Amino acid sequence: SMPMADPASSQAQMLGYVENAANADKVKYKNFVAGSHCANCGLYQGKATDKIGGCPLFPGKNVSGEGWCSAWVKVV
Ligand code: SF4
Repeated sequence: SMPMADPASSQAQMLGYVENAANADKVKYKNFVAGSHCANCGLYQGKATDKIGGCPLFPGKNVSGEGWCSAWVKVV
């Protein structure tokens, strides 16, 4: 299985990725949508109920379903 994305990595820092959306920097990221998190992001490669899943912005890594980053997009 894939390792977890490291929130301290440069990619995570650039995207504002956190493992829990509650900790997203909502001052810096004014586009934060209430209730948004990785498991309901259009880029999440897991099922909405999966605790972890892939994300194309973190190749070879899993992200936390409860996580968040500034590239979050609504599932269409
Ligand atoms: Fe999570 Fe979506 Fe950001 Fe990937 S793009 S880290 S699934 S919020």
